[in-house]
Amino acid sequence: MKVTQAYRFALDPAPSQERALRSHAGAARFAWNWGLAKCKERYEAEGKWYGATDLHKLWNAQKKADPGLAWWEQNSKCAYQEAFRDLDRALRDFIKSRKGQRKGHKLGFPKFKKRGRCRDSFRFSTGTMRCAGTTVTLPRLGTIRTHESTRKLARRLETGSARILSATVSRTAQRWFVSFTVEVERNAPEPHARPGSAIGIDLGVTTLLTGVDDTGTIITAPGPRPLRASLRKLRRASRAHSRKTPGSANRRKHAARLARIHARVSHLRADALHKATTTLAARYQTVVAEDLNVAGMVRNRRMARAISDQGFGAARRMLGYKTGWHGGQLILADRFYPSSKTCSACGTAKAKLALSERVFTCESCGLVLDRDQNAARNLLSLAASGAERLNACGAAVRPGPAGHAALNQEPGTAPAGKTGTADGQPAAAGSENSYAH
Ligand SMILES: [Zn+2]
Repeated sequence: MKVTQAYRFALDPAPSQERALRSHAGAARFAWNWGLAKCKERYEAEGKWYGATDLHKLWNAQKKADPGLAWWEQNSKCAYQEAFRDLDRALRDFIKSRKGQRKGHKLGFPKFKKRGRCRDSFRFSTGTMRCAGTTVTLPRLGTIRTHESTRKLARRLETGSARILSATVSRTAQRWFVSFTVEVERNAPEPHARPGSAIGIDLGVTTLLTGVDDTGTIITAPGPRPLRASLRKLRRASRAHSRKTPGSANRRKHAARLARIHARVSHLRADALHKATTTLAARYQTVVAEDLNVAGMVRNRRMARAISDQGFGAARRMLGYKTGWHGGQLILADRFYPSSKTCSACGTAKAKLALSERVFTCESCGLVLDRDQNAARNLLSLAASGAERLNACGAAVRPGPAGHAALNQEPGTAPAGKTGTADGQPAAAGSENSYAH
C-alpha cells in the first residue's frame, strides 16, 4: 500500500549556503510576481490567464532575451517552474472557491509577494534529493547539514520502501527547513491488536484532549509543560510587540522575537499531538471524535487562539491516517451532534451550555460531571453503536444518533453510523509534517 507522507528537517546551512537559500527563495518570489503580472495583463486583454506550462515557456523565452534577467542562472530552474505551478494552483483554487466548489473560507485573488512580507519558500521536484546521517542533498545547493538526524527517512530510502517526490525549502522565523514529500510503501494494515476497544475523545480548549474508553477509564492529555510555558511567553511577547511604534526598529526586533516563539509553540503542539494520537491509534480500534467546523470556529475571535493552538484540525487528520495504519477506524460525530450539551447518563439535552461552564450538571437526573468527560462519554456511546453496526453488516447503514453523516470524509475515517473502511488510503497531507512517531 503506497501512502504519501512528509518528512521535515531543520537545516544548519553554512553562510554561503544560506545565501543560496535566500537567493532561491527570491527567485521563486520573482517568478510568482512575474507570472502574476503576465496573467493579469492577459486577463485584462483576453479574459483568461496563463497556465503553468505557458508561463514556463514565456519565461524561458524572456530570460534569454532580456540581459537584465541574466541572474536567473544562479538558481535552479526548478525554483521558477514550481513557483509557476503554485501560481497556477492558486488561480484555480480562487475560481473554485468563488464557485463554491472549495471547502473552507473564501479565497481572494492571488497577491503579489513582497520581500519580508511573505513566506520564504521554494521547491524542487526533480534532480538529486537525498538524505544521510545529519545531511540532506539538494539540487544546486549541494549537501547541507541538518539540525537532527535524518535516519527515519534515510533508512526507508536505503531499503527502497520510500521515494522522494519533491523537496520544499522554507524559512520560519530565522530557521530554514526542508520538507520532503515522500511516497512510502506501507504494509496493508493488520487487524487491530485490541479488537472491540473503543474511546470517545473530546478535543479541549484547556486540555489537549479528554477521553473515556470502553472500560470507563478516563484518559487526559494536558499538553506538555514546555508548551504551556511557551504559550505564556507568547502572550507576553505579543503584548510587548503591540506596544511598540509601528515601523520602528524596535517593533521589527520584537516581531522577530514573536515569530521565534510562535514557531516553537507550533512545533511543540504538533509534537504533542503526534504523540497523543499515535498512542490512541495503537491502543484503540475505534476512536470517536467530533467533526468540528474549525474554519467556522476560528472566526470567533475570542476562542480563535485557543483553538488554533490546540490544532483541532491537525489532530483529526492525524487520527484519521494513524487509526488506518493500525487497522482501526476513526468515527467522526456530526458537527451538529450536541456531545457537550447532552447528559451522558440519561440523554437529556440542554438548550444552552456556556463555554465557561466547566462542569456539566443535569437537571433531569442530577448527574454532575466534568464537561469534557461528559462529552467524551457521549462520543464513546456513538462508537459502541457505530462499531457494532460495522461488524454486523458490511453495507452502508443509515446514520445513527449523530444525525447527518459527515461530508467529504478523509481517508481512514468513517462518519458516525456509516460503514467505514479504515484501509482506504490513509495518506498524510503533503503539507503536513510527519514526525513518524
Ligand atoms: Zn441526566
